[in-house]
Amino acid sequence: MTGGPRLVLRDQKPQGTQVRLGPGLVVGGRAFVVMAGPCAVEDEAQIAEAADVVASAGCAVLRGGAFKPRTSPYSFQGLGAPGVRLLLEAARRHRLAAVTEVLDDDDLAGLEGVALLQVGARNMQNFALLKALGGLRRPVLLKRGMAATVDEWLLAAEYLLAAGNEQVILCERGVRGFDPSTRNTLDLAAVVLAKQRTHLPVIVDPSHATGRTELVIPLSLAAAAAGADGLLVEMHPWPSTALSDGDQALLPDGLRELMRKLPPVLGAVGRELWRSEPMRRAVAR
Ligand code: PEP
Ligand code: MN
Repeated sequence: MTGGPRLVLRDQKPQGTQVRLGPGLVVGGRAFVVMAGPCAVEDEAQIAEAADVVASAGCAVLRGGAFKPRTSPYSFQGLGAPGVRLLLEAARRHRLAAVTEVLDDDDLAGLEGVALLQVGARNMQNFALLKALGGLRRPVLLKRGMAATVDEWLLAAEYLLAAGNEQVILCERGVRGFDPSTRNTLDLAAVVLAKQRTHLPVIVDPSHATGRTELVIPLSLAAAAAGADGLLVEMHPWPSTALSDGDQALLPDGLRELMRKLPPVLGAVGRELWRSEPMRRAVAR
């Protein structure tokens, strides 16, 4: 027997896996799902304002890191458990689902209400964490490691499926390139390849992929055209004061612009944008 991927392969489930994040909210179906919010939860006012913007733009999911995997130990490490509580309160107020990163399975007890548990790029091959999350029956967002091959990424997903958890969404977030003009290089070929090789939904994070606000909308549209199932985008109400990743955050207006520009691109590839019920009614009017 070879050590290659098995359970994640498309021929195991040709119709594709749909991951349910809440009532009427599925990733991997016809609807393209936008998840947006700040890199990190900073305080109550910031995440409350972000949630207002995310909901009123018609997005489905609020992001916000509480446990932050920072390159330097001297950088803001996130608010921890109180940050998760603030994220969930803000999301609940607007009936948004929430996504946040889990660094350590010891923190899972405090992440009960979180719809989608993120494994960050730095932890893609944290096999103990993957095994622990594989033992849950909860949706997991598996980011591609910054220097991981597509095979390594699929095998990391295989850990989750092999341990019994099929509710896995893959996320391309850029790989290390040679050019400091962008933070990483967005590998859209890997998105298409992962969609062809596996039955799992694949979304794109254009924020960490580029590190630059002005590149986020164009690359989001490219991801939609390439067949991604959704986006994970950083948006901060006041990016100049952000405690992390302010340079790549969309402003509220940027998020609204993105949500206006996505539908024609999605329409051209036979998809539609997931929008909240009030937004759908407003658009239909
Ligand atoms: C994040 O999404 O908050 C994050 C840290 O991203 P990545 O793991 O892709 O660097
Ligand atoms: Mn970030």
